[in-house]
Amino acid sequence: MSADAQLRADIVEVGRRLYARGYTASNDGNISVRLDAARLLMTPSGVCKGFMTPDMMCITDLEGRKLAGERNPSSEIQMHLEVYRRRPDVNAVVHAHPPLATGFAVAGIPLDRAVLAEVVCTLGSVPIAEYATPSTKELPEAVGKYVKAHDGMLLANHGALTLGTDLFSAYFKMETIEHFAKISLVARLLGGERILSREEVFRLQGLRGHYGIAAPAPICADPAPGSPADCQVVQAPSAPGQRLVPDYVAFPEDLAGTLARRAQMAGSVPADREIRLTYGELTALIEDAVKNLR
Ligand SMILES: [Zn+2]
Repeated sequence: MSADAQLRADIVEVGRRLYARGYTASNDGNISVRLDAARLLMTPSGVCKGFMTPDMMCITDLEGRKLAGERNPSSEIQMHLEVYRRRPDVNAVVHAHPPLATGFAVAGIPLDRAVLAEVVCTLGSVPIAEYATPSTKELPEAVGKYVKAHDGMLLANHGALTLGTDLFSAYFKMETIEHFAKISLVARLLGGERILSREEVFRLQGLRGHYGIAAPAPICADPAPGSPADCQVVQAPSAPGQRLVPDYVAFPEDLAGTLARRAQMAGSVPADREIRLTYGELTALIEDAVKNLR
């Protein structure tokens, strides 16, 4: 099989998987790969990614002009072009709307807590690119800000975008993001994550070469606020000698006081961060809240 035919077949396969896993619905999503230094192979607009055939793909140049194909390239082609322009090491781009990751993107919650070793190693943090109207030039601008330091990102109120040195590595990063979103949601429903300490994060970063991970996930200890995302921000508090640290949970002041008193009385930090109140404490809190309402 020629390289061109193989890449077409790979795009069909990845499209089928995205659709089968529910990462895209209807005609959502788009996929592209570099054919050579000057040309891209791109999914067409207006087709379901689960039912594509190899002949449907378009060939474009790096300005997005169609060179071959009966159909028009994806309406999100500008977002893909922005990635290829800024990242010469990237040979494939996948965009989809996986529902849990997109839920975080809609809620405005980045997946930036250091909680899973494989995510720290492969993606670092997963930021949210600012909202932009799909198919406009705002979207590539929003994505362009993060693309230098991130191989995966959420798109606010829209979906997710992943990049890779080849198509399957870009696709697997989409799987990792959705899996990470699912685990993060469950952990938060169960009372919150325990976060890897910054020291553990740096240790994992040091292992990336060992696993042959070359793509950037540069993590800075304390990036300057508001600095462009050349560096990743990962929530991983410093705790020398410890591998895990508790999540920060912003309790209402009354509850925080109650918990602190409890911990003091018990002579230790509570074993978990679930809030357990006696009937008396609960009544006092409610009375207090009612008083404040008046
Ligand atoms: Zn989309």
